[in-house]
Amino acid sequence: MRLVTFTTATSADPRLGALLAGDRVADLGALAAARGTELPGDLRSLIAAGPVAHAAARKLLAASSAELPDGAVRALADVTLQAPLRPGKVIGVGLNYVEHVEESSRSLDTAKELPDRPVLFSKPATAVTGPGHPILHNGNLTAQLDWECELAVVIGKTAFRVSEEDAWDHIFGYSIVNDISARDQRRSGQWFFSKGQDSYCPFGPAVVTADEIEDPLDLDLHLAVNGRTKQKGNTRDMLFRIPRLIADISSGVTLEPGDVIATGSPSGVGAGMNPPEFLRPGDIVEATIAGIGTLSNPVVDAR
Ligand code: MG
Repeated sequence: MRLVTFTTATSADPRLGALLAGDRVADLGALAAARGTELPGDLRSLIAAGPVAHAAARKLLAASSAELPDGAVRALADVTLQAPLRPGKVIGVGLNYVEHVEESSRSLDTAKELPDRPVLFSKPATAVTGPGHPILHNGNLTAQLDWECELAVVIGKTAFRVSEEDAWDHIFGYSIVNDISARDQRRSGQWFFSKGQDSYCPFGPAVVTADEIEDPLDLDLHLAVNGRTKQKGNTRDMLFRIPRLIADISSGVTLEPGDVIATGSPSGVGAGMNPPEFLRPGDIVEATIAGIGTLSNPVVDAR
């Protein structure tokens, strides 16, 4: 399933949907009602409801599109996608690709040596924004707004002190996070304000369930600004891989359904360019991950 959250021109109430072939979106609530059943109304609740609810959603969608009742399917062009869900927390992983460690040590004030444990930080839920929604550029606060295309792991089942072997069982699916960073707002090495401001966590467009991603450790990542490629990478080059991240974080922090781990950026961030390049109002940033989709956001002046 490729699960989304959408609103329509006539209703600002977010609805749970699933992307279908032919640029269509199924309204899962309407579909369930037409079949005389019920599903949780939002993605975070659906994830938390567990495997029985997930199977029920899958079964509703398995009916051929000819059988989908009127009103339960819309053209993607007729809806506005929102962030797939509002996570309880977003855990970011810094310096998780070797070449990005190198470019960061050159251009930022990070260490040259590869980290021997995952470098963790968090972004508040208020930073999360949806596909197509603006990244806010406040020129009073930053002249160094930067991009980072990252595979997002969406937690499916509560994880506390989970082993690497068991970590996969705690994943619901995958998506994209653009870990927007105001490089000039790091404070004494702390990244919260540089990465945590409103709109600094574009997320989506969909959460793709884990069964549809054959190998999350072999996915091409790509980011373009105004159509020009800035980042090209593959998740196989993560320094600390997904099971290690879940084991490490959950050694002391409970991961809950709907929590998001942004697994780190490959090289090609603006700060590492020569000369450095940063986002300006009017730019369009497109983060693409194979098998998941493209997360596109405009940068707008928000002084
Ligand atoms: Mg990052």
